[in-house]
Amino acid sequence: MKPRWNPWSHWPEIDIRRWQAQRLGEYLRTVVLPFSAHYQDLFHEHGLNADSIDTLGDLERLPFTTKTDLLGTGENPQPFRDFILVPDEKILSHRSGVVLQALLHGRASVREKFEAEFRPIFMTFTTGRSAEPVPFLYSKHDLARLAVAGRRVMEVCGARAEDRMLNSFPYAPHLAFWLTHYAGVAFGSMMFSSGGGKVTSTSETLRLIRKLKPDVFIGIPTFLYHVMHQAVEEGLRWDNLRCIVLGGEKVSDGLRQKLRHLAGELGASRERLEVLATYGFTEAKMAWAECPFAQSGLSAGYHLYPDLGIVEIIDPRTGKVVPNGQPGEIVFTQLDARGSVVLRYRTGDFTDGGITMEPCPYCHRTMPRLIGNISRSSEIRQMNLDKIKGTLVDFNELEHVLDDAPHVGAWQVELRKVNDDPHELDEIILHVEKNNGVNEAQLSRELSERCYRYTDIHPNRILFHDTAEMQRLQGVGKLIKEQKLADHRPQIATTSP
Ligand SMILES: [Zn+2]
Repeated sequence: MKPRWNPWSHWPEIDIRRWQAQRLGEYLRTVVLPFSAHYQDLFHEHGLNADSIDTLGDLERLPFTTKTDLLGTGENPQPFRDFILVPDEKILSHRSGVVLQALLHGRASVREKFEAEFRPIFMTFTTGRSAEPVPFLYSKHDLARLAVAGRRVMEVCGARAEDRMLNSFPYAPHLAFWLTHYAGVAFGSMMFSSGGGKVTSTSETLRLIRKLKPDVFIGIPTFLYHVMHQAVEEGLRWDNLRCIVLGGEKVSDGLRQKLRHLAGELGASRERLEVLATYGFTEAKMAWAECPFAQSGLSAGYHLYPDLGIVEIIDPRTGKVVPNGQPGEIVFTQLDARGSVVLRYRTGDFTDGGITMEPCPYCHRTMPRLIGNISRSSEIRQMNLDKIKGTLVDFNELEHVLDDAPHVGAWQVELRKVNDDPHELDEIILHVEKNNGVNEAQLSRELSERCYRYTDIHPNRILFHDTAEMQRLQGVGKLIKEQKLADHRPQIATTSP
């Protein structure tokens, strides 16, 4: 009998690695290689088989899977289909356990078991803006794993069964909404899923908050900020709010401080309030969370589940795995998925802190953790290193600079061309909702200097707005995800109409 995996029991690094290598070998042998068209071909092409992986170090022999492998081309418009496991009944029915089950419980029960394990019944889509969304399929087996992952997010965040929770992630076929929904069910606490700003407007969300008095507020940071800001303006009391869980966007320290400040204005205890971030992606079919940490201290990072997947950090230029604690690109390998399966998937997301195997200083769990800041590829494409006025601007940096700026509430960076002429120079307009009572001219000067100090650019104009106008600019209630960067530069037409 294999020992039952207790995700939070003490496992030394060497045992985790040995267990994962063994698990991966078995998974390749019995699940992935017999039934995945993509990996059958890939292993064949490289002269590999399940026995090629003896230790975790051998994982490096396996080529990466990238976003491009999943995206369609003219020749192969739907390559994601090759990543979906298609079981072969002949292979399955000859397995010894299966023969025994058929003898004991009949063929119908065997069929039912296979259906539950392999038949796709649910899907979520990738959320990148520049690429076609790619579907990731789930079987019943995967939905059970999604619930396990969701429950662990709850445990790491320190949830309590008696907590009332408001899930305000957008109602969409995206991982964040569904993981949160299943987390509530699996953990067994009251979870109300409002559908986000597009389904339930800011003021309707406030009505819900009055009725429900949630202890935990979950969602995308920009939306949560607007809801809490409006709550303050309406003089709402929300003194039982004790935890804010964020997902779908990077979370800066400045943003945590702002949310904590707003919660304080609503009557919640600033000392007791936790503001925790999560990190996940469609291809992993799971997310990981931070545990509660001292306000004066640093986050202990995202607590990983080594029994459900392998996370590697690689040097993006050489593709080599880097030692623990070193920065690099996050690469993910499934260990127990059915439906759509990826191995050594390059996320394009970068962590500046890498992985640590040290016990968590706060919750003392001994599982691996992803530490430091993560820059997400979906944001990088949109936000990073854009050429403005001939200068390369790092929008990840600019985002931190603005989130951490004093007296600034919500903000948006708008890119335009002078006179809206595509051949003209770029201009940067900074839209700002200032916090009460600050002199505009002075704040304008400070912000301009601050932007220049960290990113080498001066915004062309800084415009101040009230909350309603800021919500309109960011698309609160209109867009699935609120916009912090709006690129309104006209494109130069390349084809005649
Ligand atoms: Zn911890």
